[in-house]
Amino acid sequence: MIRYDFELDQLEALVDEHKPGWRARAKERTDELRRIGAYEENSSIWGEIKAVYMQIQGAKCSFCERKFEGDFSQYELDLEHFRPKRTVRKWPCPSELATGHAPATAPPAGNSGYYLLSYHLLNYAAVCKPCNSGLKQNYFPISGEYNFVGTEPNDMHAEQPWLLYPIGSADVDPEDAVSFHGMLPHCKSDDPNLQLRGLATIAFFQLDDVIARKNLMRERAQVIFILHCLLQRANEEENPQMAEEVGNMIASSAAHANCARSFKRLFDLDHVEAAKVAEKARRFIGSIS
Ligand SMILES: [Zn+2]
Repeated sequence: MIRYDFELDQLEALVDEHKPGWRARAKERTDELRRIGAYEENSSIWGEIKAVYMQIQGAKCSFCERKFEGDFSQYELDLEHFRPKRTVRKWPCPSELATGHAPATAPPAGNSGYYLLSYHLLNYAAVCKPCNSGLKQNYFPISGEYNFVGTEPNDMHAEQPWLLYPIGSADVDPEDAVSFHGMLPHCKSDDPNLQLRGLATIAFFQLDDVIARKNLMRERAQVIFILHCLLQRANEEENPQMAEEVGNMIASSAAHANCARSFKRLFDLDHVEAAKVAEKARRFIGSIS
């Protein structure tokens, strides 16, 4: 997971360019939802601006960093509501995360969900089906107090979300909370809040589960193996083309950029350990079906 440096005004400009008039229609719908007091619609319009989030996120999932499939991506991704638009359910927190941390706030029974954020541009992210439909669902664990009538995500300070939000600069940079050693994500921060959020995001999206997320692991292993080859050649031959390829693999638009950047940092620090990690990745690729 990485940050995508797009603020609200930039998102608005991109939406206006992609779908003129969308924001006015979204406001009308939000006004109607405010009148009703819940999310109730027969049809929605956020799907019309999927392409904007695809563009800013380099056509990959904001949580697991898997790439979407070109022209078919519209079938493969959801425009996810970070704060659920309908009733927020209690997330079944894994026991290892519950140890050493205060429990998440229990969502009130029968809560309305964040219906007023159904059409807020800072409540969206392009997310793959496994991360969204399989895992995110209507969960939104927080510390603090739920504010279901908030209208600006960046001003909802009574809530301290456990999950990291990747778009804009209002939230912490996900790479300050989550980094990688080899294929596996971990939380490197000593800050208790960052530690909770990093660990919660990893657990929530099962980003370290080698069985449930086998293909995610395979892709990361491939990134590490290829990147190691490129780094070695760039280093040994002072080859500018290889250096450029390395740059492409750690760019924000690259698949698994956080994993790749973490591996490059390891390589720069310790060639021997990096070689061991790359060999482990190579063996992993060969070991799974
Ligand atoms: Zn995903």
